[in-house]
Amino acid sequence: MGAHALAARTEGLRAQDRPPLHYAKGSYFALHGRAPFQHLIYPLPEPGGLGIHLTLDLGGGARFGPDVEWVGEPNYDVDPRRAFGFYSAVRTYWPELADGALRPDYAGVRPKLVRPGAEQDFWISGPAEHGLPELINLFGIESPGLTASLAIADYIADLLAD
Ligand SMILES: Cc1cc2nc3c(=O)[nH]c(=O)nc-3n(C[C@H](O)[C@H](O)[C@H](O)COP(=O)(O)OP(=O)(O)OC[C@H]3O[C@@H](n4cnc5c(N)ncnc54)[C@H](O)[C@@H]3O)c2cc1C
Repeated sequence: MGAHALAARTEGLRAQDRPPLHYAKGSYFALHGRAPFQHLIYPLPEPGGLGIHLTLDLGGGARFGPDVEWVGEPNYDVDPRRAFGFYSAVRTYWPELADGALRPDYAGVRPKLVRPGAEQDFWISGPAEHGLPELINLFGIESPGLTASLAIADYIADLLAD
């Protein structure tokens, strides 16, 4: 999330070496009560996100999310009115979800390099692109940046070894 701000403060890095940045906020709603599921449930992805999926935690709690909301500036408030979209999305795979069962939980913000409708993967730019020695920028490391983190780390280690 901070890569663009850091790059903007990096002496010698040209403007064209910094991609545009857009914020796709994702809110989560928690289920009040126990979920009747033993495993995660992933619907088909939606533009900008993986779709409102079910995650179970070790305490037996369940939460749904994240949705996709394009915002001008990052903020982490969960608007209770967004529950409306959650009920309809979750009921596509769990029609028995009761009215009033969802509570606002938490939110995250994905740093996106493009707006909806376009596709852009991470942008990892090293000395070969921008010409500054020993500087590697990692832009737009959002989903699945966590899952891919070890592979990304291997890639960076190879770049540094070159
Ligand atoms: C709603 C949502 C859903 C997601 N779902 C998935 C998923 O299902 N699967 C998946 O693989 N990924 C997912 N991601 C993406 C994943 O969370 C990120 O790719 C991952 O967290 C990026 O890790 P990072 O360490 O690069 O950056 P961050 O997690 O952003 O960590 C950067 C750290 O640097 C610190 N920092 C920033 N600036 C400075 C500074 N100037 N000085 C010192 N410290 C600084 C920050 O405080 C922060 O602790 C999701 C993200 C969101 C928002």
